[in-house]
Amino acid sequence: MNIQGKKISILGAVRSGIGAAKLAKQLGAIPFVSDMSSMEKLSDQIKQLEELNIEYEIEAHSEKVFDADFIITSPGVPGNAPVLLKAKEKCIDVISEIEFASWFCKGTIIAITGTNGKTTTTSLCAHVLNEAGYKTYLAGNIGFAFSEIVLDVEESDYVALEVSSFQLDHISKFRPKYAMILNITPDHLDRYDFDFNKYVNSKLSISMNQIESDCLITNVDDRTLGLRSINTQSELIQFGIENKIVLGAYLLEDKLYFKNIEQSEFICDSQSMQIKGEHNIQNALAVICVTKKIGLTNVEIGNGLKSFSGVEHRLEFVKEINGISFINDSKATNVDSVWFAIRSFDRPLYLILGGKDKGNNYDQILEPVKKHVKKIYAIGSSAEKVYEYFHSRVETEITDTIEKSIDKSIKEAENGDIVLLSPACASFDQFNSYEHRGEVFKKIVNSL
Ligand code: ADP
Repeated sequence: MNIQGKKISILGAVRSGIGAAKLAKQLGAIPFVSDMSSMEKLSDQIKQLEELNIEYEIEAHSEKVFDADFIITSPGVPGNAPVLLKAKEKCIDVISEIEFASWFCKGTIIAITGTNGKTTTTSLCAHVLNEAGYKTYLAGNIGFAFSEIVLDVEESDYVALEVSSFQLDHISKFRPKYAMILNITPDHLDRYDFDFNKYVNSKLSISMNQIESDCLITNVDDRTLGLRSINTQSELIQFGIENKIVLGAYLLEDKLYFKNIEQSEFICDSQSMQIKGEHNIQNALAVICVTKKIGLTNVEIGNGLKSFSGVEHRLEFVKEINGISFINDSKATNVDSVWFAIRSFDRPLYLILGGKDKGNNYDQILEPVKKHVKKIYAIGSSAEKVYEYFHSRVETEITDTIEKSIDKSIKEAENGDIVLLSPACASFDQFNSYEHRGEVFKKIVNSL
């Protein structure tokens, strides 16, 4: 693909926008970056653009955006943003950053999407491949933007690419050799006109350009995926815990296997993995599917799964104090991930729940909460909502902050109990990000 001399407008000046601008510049195109955000917020990015002599505008999208051969949009720009609607009116192609970067990728793309588990699975996948000597880049929503690394990728390399639905919303030719859909549950519906089908279709589009020699890996246990017949040209490989698999990876009596047409092959014991919980078994099964197809041996895959220690802020063990374990699951920003978190432990839980609510319905976690949770500490701007829903069913107290919750829990929990921050909400009511929220939790716990 030759983009020399092409005018490319890039919406959004954060990670993927900056990555795309750099790549465009390197390839001889004329990038123009436009962002609505303030000078203050973007000072680091502006510095980078100025150093690279890339033209930009901030605090507005001017008419100059439309003086372009095509537009690259960032995941943060909603599909119905006036600037995108106007581009459509003017018949200017709009693509996402992963679409753009993929045009220049010589290596093999493993694209991983799903409502939950993307970061964990993408990291695990890269870890297993790298440990087995297959050079693999970690990119997308995690690590570097795809555009930042794509020119370093050689033909024999792999790219484990974390892909959100927002990135998939603007693909046209994006064709990963391996695509993975981990699960689909309601999330981000505000971006899809509160239409779950639109969100599902966005996720499914990960395989829309795949051909027969490609692979689509999906979760048979997922309620949404299980109900759909997936229309794909590629080879369908499945993984699951509850269901019988024809071709793919499964769990039986705490052991992970891969089944091909002739036989089932043992990969490893789930107990020997450091990451815990049913959801992490699903993530590992997904990775088994792709790494088997690539040709790793069972021993290589098993060793990689066992040596992976997890990703920060995802069911991360922080510290044990007086026999009480403190777990940071700040990345649990929706109800589904809390469901998995609660089921990952067989010890009584003190659950810190709440934050910026995204329209949560707690019916889904009521049963596991009643079974496993001794007490809920309700925090953040949705503390009242959490209290209203749970207090008649489980002991619940409004503690407002993480600090007060930890303070209470250390007095109320007993030897053998777990204090779990798994808030089911976004963090922006009290923190800059989920990472910030997790850091605060860890700092307080570690200071005790
Ligand atoms: P994503 O990148 O899709 O947001 P993460 O790997 O960052 O996913 O995990 C987000 C949250 O979801 C964490 O609380 C984590 O423990 C939980 N989680 C991880 N894998 C899964 C899964 N397969 N299904 C449901 N929840 C999961």
